[in-house]
Amino acid sequence: MISKRVQEIPFSGIRKFFELVQKSKDVVSLGVGEPDFPTPEPLKDAGIRAIESDHTSYTSNYGLLELRQKISGKLKKKNGIRRNPENEILITVGVSEALDLAIRAILNPGEEILVPEPSYVSYKPNIWFAYGNPVPVPTREENEFRLEPEEIEKRITKKTKAILIASPNNPTGSVLRKKDLEEIADIAMEHDLIVISDEIYEELIYDNEKHYSIGSFNGMEDRTITLNGFSKAYAFTGWRLGYATGNSEIIEAMMKIHQYTMLCAPTIAQYAALNAFEHESYVRDMVREYDRRRKLLVKGLNEIPGISCIMPKGAFYVFPNIKETGMKSEKFAEKLLFEGRVAVVPGSTFGDSGEGYVRCSYSVSRENISEALARIGKFMEGLR
Ligand code: PLP
Repeated sequence: MISKRVQEIPFSGIRKFFELVQKSKDVVSLGVGEPDFPTPEPLKDAGIRAIESDHTSYTSNYGLLELRQKISGKLKKKNGIRRNPENEILITVGVSEALDLAIRAILNPGEEILVPEPSYVSYKPNIWFAYGNPVPVPTREENEFRLEPEEIEKRITKKTKAILIASPNNPTGSVLRKKDLEEIADIAMEHDLIVISDEIYEELIYDNEKHYSIGSFNGMEDRTITLNGFSKAYAFTGWRLGYATGNSEIIEAMMKIHQYTMLCAPTIAQYAALNAFEHESYVRDMVREYDRRRKLLVKGLNEIPGISCIMPKGAFYVFPNIKETGMKSEKFAEKLLFEGRVAVVPGSTFGDSGEGYVRCSYSVSRENISEALARIGKFMEGLR
């Protein structure tokens, strides 16, 4: 009954692992991939008001114009991207949908998209579903898992259509510097490539590091599709709201798919997010707390013999190196779950170059981080 294409694509390794976690008791989970904070009150209130005011019908396919106008203002102020809210911004069902639309809008069967590795688990399957070929570009711990332009260039073929970038990155937390992005932009222009830039973790950035949007760079305006959303910054994952911006031709093509598959993003969520950009103090408070947890977790991991961990600059993940244990990351994660009662995600889930690492999320309380560290310490001692 099932198409060959769908049969060929494996289920997400995270899902497989979490089925194991759910069956286990007394586990401290560092496996989560979403904020542990509630949605900020003003956004919740706006959502409740939307229901009470019967704002429960479809919106325009592009999304509420008022929200697009606010996003346009935010893009100009924060990202240096100037876009017409009428036809160059599309409100989507999370960045997840925006990613799928962007890929389907630009890709012909057999074309290639360069994808950093390790990276978010949906990138490759989305490309496969569009009958394209993802081409992994490995990143290395020695370079803080930042994409290396020469590694991109080496993999460009006649079939390359686009480069997908994500900064800050999931699972490594790496943040691309302005110079990295400038070099990537030069490559894209030289080889006439589109850049899909997933900026969902834009707000979660530490140590005075700065987020740059490649879509604002000279010559990149019309070849970049910038994806962003409310899930991570505004603890908004379940509301399902994101957006895509780019030139009108691409955004219209994406809207065509969205129109027939989704119709519009959730109306209540769109109303709830209308004033989000006026409530950035909530975001700042969350980021301050993430930062404390990040430092606690990295320090604690580095104190455990056999584990080493670089200090990532963004998102809410750390990606410790477990190579000294001699175990594959999946084996390590399984053993740590069953024997140490701590859940982490095997690095190999995020691509072959994630082997030898595990992803730990610090989107959990400091108490839980301390407990997890104590358990990991004990577990590692038992291995020696
Ligand atoms: N992009 C990255 C890098 C992510 O980590 C995630 C979710 O974890 C998404 C996109 C999807 O987010 P959304 O909730 O906006 O669909």
